Amino acid sequence: MRARSPRDAVVVGGGIAGLAAAWDLRSRDVLVLEASDRVGGRIRSEARDPYWLNVGAHVFSGPGSATGRLADEVGVRLEPVPGKLVALELGGTILLGGRPELYPFRLPLKTSERLALVHAGARLRLAARRYEKLATSRPGESPAETRARVLSYGDDRTFAEWLGALPGDADALFRATVTRSTAEPEEISFGHGAGYFALVWSAGKGLSHNILGGASLLVDGIASALPGGVETGAEVRRVSRADDLLRVSYTREGAEREVLARHVVVATKAFDAARIVEDLPGETRTALDGIPYGPTVVMGMLTGERGPMPWDDLYALATPKRSFSMLFNMANVLRPKTRERRDGGSLMVYRSGHAAHDLLERSDAEIERAFVDDLEAIYPETRGIVCETLLLRLPRMLPYVAPGRAALQPALERSLGNVHLAGDYIGGVYTETAISTGQQAAAAIVASLNGPTSQARSEA
Ligand SMILES: Cc1cc2nc3c(=O)[nH]c(=O)nc-3n(C[C@H](O)[C@H](O)[C@H](O)COP(=O)(O)OP(=O)(O)OC[C@H]3O[C@@H](n4cnc5c(N)ncnc54)[C@H](O)[C@@H]3O)c2cc1C
Repeated sequence: MRARSPRDAVVVGGGIAGLAAAWDLRSRDVLVLEASDRVGGRIRSEARDPYWLNVGAHVFSGPGSATGRLADEVGVRLEPVPGKLVALELGGTILLGGRPELYPFRLPLKTSERLALVHAGARLRLAARRYEKLATSRPGESPAETRARVLSYGDDRTFAEWLGALPGDADALFRATVTRSTAEPEEISFGHGAGYFALVWSAGKGLSHNILGGASLLVDGIASALPGGVETGAEVRRVSRADDLLRVSYTREGAEREVLARHVVVATKAFDAARIVEDLPGETRTALDGIPYGPTVVMGMLTGERGPMPWDDLYALATPKRSFSMLFNMANVLRPKTRERRDGGSLMVYRSGHAAHDLLERSDAEIERAFVDDLEAIYPETRGIVCETLLLRLPRMLPYVAPGRAALQPALERSLGNVHLAGDYIGGVYTETAISTGQQAAAAIVASLNGPTSQARSEA
């Protein structure tokens, strides 16, 4: 039997980084290998008409971003989140609107906590503004240059060191936002922590758009439009050099398989990339192994209410002292669209950081009970209306930016010849970083395939 000619590219990992790369390579001979039985990785929604259950990424960058371009090309609609993004619940008080800097005066706090919150809040506003300025790409700058500048900001200390010790509930309030990163204020760099507040406070910029119909529409749309599709259940064990080519060894349906490729995009988490790629430069392997990941326990919920609910106008609610730390109303984007409010809805809650480690010790039933009990304590209207749940335990969910992270960046961005790294861990903006690094990998491959050497080879 004649051996198949080498692929132009093999993409390892069918998350959004790998799919973004494959999308830009779709006119080439490209194969996507995905270990699990579905595409999307940490993007996951399940349709429940007219709603969708969500247990993965849900807010995305809008028009003008790498995500915006991809969504446009795939034909998926990005809609600005209409509801409140900075709502807060503490001790039964829910703050749904108004200026966040005035929240300290509206919460049930001790005087010392209130003063600490006002003071720290004012410092943080300046830091968040600085982060935003640094994160704005400059004319002629490459995405890699923007990433390097952002990662350098506040890289010399932790967020906790910058903030100083705060009393009781003042600490809990900051912690709830910072742990969305999956790390504690004592672990994350000051700059990355400030970035989280910039994200939350600058509604309309950054990650502020929903995908109408659920985020999986984007990944499923890409996968179904790829001429070669995606091989799921294909776990890559090794990427090794074979003369000028790369050999990708994987298992599928219990059998060992191999494919040769001119280029490989490795779009897995950092520690998986370090494990499967042979002959990485030492500094790159060390950098990949040096990216920390924190845990999350997330639960999507479908609700069966028969009329308007107090959370209809809300998108995100921070709940610092509950079993979950964030509550999201996934149906919010639909509310202004429909003249009549359709029955039912969709919510998502999660807990990240150290408290998620404690949750991971408990059974699914215990976690679900704790989440539903707290939901009912915040909104008694939810009693008896949660009709479906989907719980995920993610012990190594999100890469976070720890002090010293900027020093790893050159080893992650450097050329590795025909191996290309892509994924959210290469920068600090999650799906936007994943997509832009996937697109960057594809552009490098297209340039190489179109380059003088390959042209000479095809003419020979
Ligand atoms: C609950 C939750 C909420 C989130 N919210 C947001 C949000 O609102 N906005 C935002 O921007 N981000 C958010 N994120 C983060 C976002 O989901 C990720 O940053 C992004 O999806 C990462 O994409 P990726 O392609 O880099 O990695 P992944 O999605 O992890 O994809 C990697 C893929 O590689 C596959 N793989 C691994 N090893 C192998 C192997 N050996 N062979 C073959 N395949 C392999 C994996 O199965 C996976 O499918 C959230 C994540 C979660 C879980």
